[in-house]
Amino acid sequence: MEFIDEGYISSLLEEKKLNDPLRQKEIIQKSRDAKGLTLEESAALLNITDPEISEELFHVAREVKETIYGNRLVLFAPLYITNQCVNNCLYCAFRRDNKELKRKTLSLEEIHQEIEFLVKQGHKRILVVCGEHPKKSGMEYIGETIKTIYEVNFNGGNIRRVNANTAPLSIDDFKLLKSFGIGTYQCFQETYHYSTYLQMHVDGPKRDYAWRLYAMDRALQAGIEDVGIGALFGLTDYKFETLAMLSHAFNLDNKFGIGPHTISVPRIEPALNAPVSHKPPFAVDDFSFKKLIAVIRLAVPYTGIILSTRERAEVRRELFKVGVSQISAGSRTSPGAYKESVESMDEHDMEQFQLGDHRTLDEVVKDTCELGFLPSFCTACYRSDRTGDRFMELAKSGNIGKLCVPNALSTFQEYVNDFASGGTKLAAEKFIEREIGSLEGATKRKTEEMIKKVNDGEHDVFF
Ligand code: SAM
Ligand code: SF4
Repeated sequence: MEFIDEGYISSLLEEKKLNDPLRQKEIIQKSRDAKGLTLEESAALLNITDPEISEELFHVAREVKETIYGNRLVLFAPLYITNQCVNNCLYCAFRRDNKELKRKTLSLEEIHQEIEFLVKQGHKRILVVCGEHPKKSGMEYIGETIKTIYEVNFNGGNIRRVNANTAPLSIDDFKLLKSFGIGTYQCFQETYHYSTYLQMHVDGPKRDYAWRLYAMDRALQAGIEDVGIGALFGLTDYKFETLAMLSHAFNLDNKFGIGPHTISVPRIEPALNAPVSHKPPFAVDDFSFKKLIAVIRLAVPYTGIILSTRERAEVRRELFKVGVSQISAGSRTSPGAYKESVESMDEHDMEQFQLGDHRTLDEVVKDTCELGFLPSFCTACYRSDRTGDRFMELAKSGNIGKLCVPNALSTFQEYVNDFASGGTKLAAEKFIEREIGSLEGATKRKTEEMIKKVNDGEHDVFF
């Protein structure tokens, strides 16, 4: 655990010279080259309090995000397959001691129904989420879940990338997970602050901090090339958490030549019988949250930043501007809730935490393109073997955009043709036309060619 150096991080946070506005401005200017920041530089930016300097920070974060990723926002939906859990995390409704939560593990038939519902909304990417339970969420069940998800096909619509957020696995189980056709493996450290970690994880296998911290090392050793890290903001000081999470990212990059594919930034939301969730000990206000996301964007410019529907629509809109690149939409956090919600059952008895953004995928898509962001349903990299160091190389050199633009636009066109409502279609058609108009040369030709194929009825056009 030597790479999470609590003493060093605390000393950076106490360092007076890192509060110097001139130094902060210099670092912001330097970060324009999209080559990343050191831990010390990141600490200086997290200390910004001056409104003018923070505006500069937000502006440059957006600029860097657009240099690497353009204006794209990748969309996905989580699929909760079981809320059974042997752990007792003080912030989560799935915790073992929550006797009021209705427990449910989806059958393969129910998984099929849930996915059919999501495919009919237009989703192409799923994040499988589950509690930790040796029997209810074992490897065999996860394997069958992923197979079932990939099998669903509705008029050419299907799920093309399945990511997973599960408890940490052994190297052998990670090899199995890879063989199921997994995209990104995600696992959040929750808090990198050791003593806080022990307070929050009273018992159960999750109490083992080191086993969780080294999950990504094992996943990479097992051949899973895209890994996603994260912290649950609100458990300890946000500056400490951000710097520790960046230390984790730098360490993976140094050791394996592959930094994290994504970083997730959940903030604690109220959850049933989860004592810490209603009054988080270090609740993060909206300004600090925006700032920490901007700092992550500048510190690791090549890493995707994921924001979930935990956040309200207004907050999400603000955060898109400072570097978020992936968002969930139309989400539910209890097993079986997609289909059940249509039949209006009380899903809240089974959910993990309360959502902040309740809009449908169609509403989010319309809003996203009205704000000037391109909703992308692309899953091309993973299926064209552009994962791990190949992806990182393209992202770090700023060349990923050349591939992403045609793929994002053609998958968006496919969504519009197949699933968009009247109002969304109108907004999207104008938006797509404007986006194509702004392209040049080979990228423009390739995009037009791909969109023509989609408009001629072809599905899953990518390169
Ligand atoms: N059970 C596995 C685990 O804990 O790693 C994987 C899935 S868990 C359902 C996914 C994530 O939900 C956790 O890692 C945690 O960060 C987040 N979470 C738990 N309780 C939350 C809450 N009250 N508000 C927001 N996010 C929460
Ligand atoms: Fe279980 Fe994960 Fe919730 Fe903890 S966060 S109680 S491990 S589902």
